[in-house]
Amino acid sequence: MHEFASYDPSMSLMKYIFVDMDECLLHTNFLGAHFNPGAKKDRVIANATKVYGPVFELDRELYTTKMRPGALDLLRRLRELYGNEYVRVLTSSVTSYANKNNEIHGFGFRPDQIFAREDMNKMNFGIKEKVIPFIPGRVALIDNLPPRDNHGKLEYLNPLLDRGFISYVTVAEYWGYEDDYPFDEKYINEIVERIEDGFAA
Ligand SMILES: [Mg+2]
Repeated sequence: MHEFASYDPSMSLMKYIFVDMDECLLHTNFLGAHFNPGAKKDRVIANATKVYGPVFELDRELYTTKMRPGALDLLRRLRELYGNEYVRVLTSSVTSYANKNNEIHGFGFRPDQIFAREDMNKMNFGIKEKVIPFIPGRVALIDNLPPRDNHGKLEYLNPLLDRGFISYVTVAEYWGYEDDYPFDEKYINEIVERIEDGFAA
């Protein structure tokens, strides 16, 4: 008996990859806030730059930030595999902080590829605001938090999902230390494998 081809959701071509920022692609240290004119802000900046890395100021707060070794290699690989357009940031931090880190580390995201706290707060309007075109597909999230501690992000991404479940890749936390797991070739391969396993489910 002949069977008609039915809609097969596994044929969806859309694949969205979201990458977390803090403790995933980078680590920042908070240095201080609301420096008074008499405070030795310059010295704080000079010391932090020497010990940690670039310093930036945001809303009268000072931070220093360190990129995880291999972060750019991971992004390059994901963009090669899934396309520039579909590799995006999803962070619980505020947009200005995410933009700043994107700029400092040269991650290469356009502002409309960065989804941050303000976007998640607009949940009621859905993710459609930024994801264009809004065609459901496979969704992956690379994050240092386990899924059970990341309900906000999972809920936010849910409308993008065509079927199955979010391909969730928990990565080792990066706290800015030398021996924190770098995104080397082996680790990047493992991440991609885990994304694909989730997509195939
Ligand atoms: Mg994180």
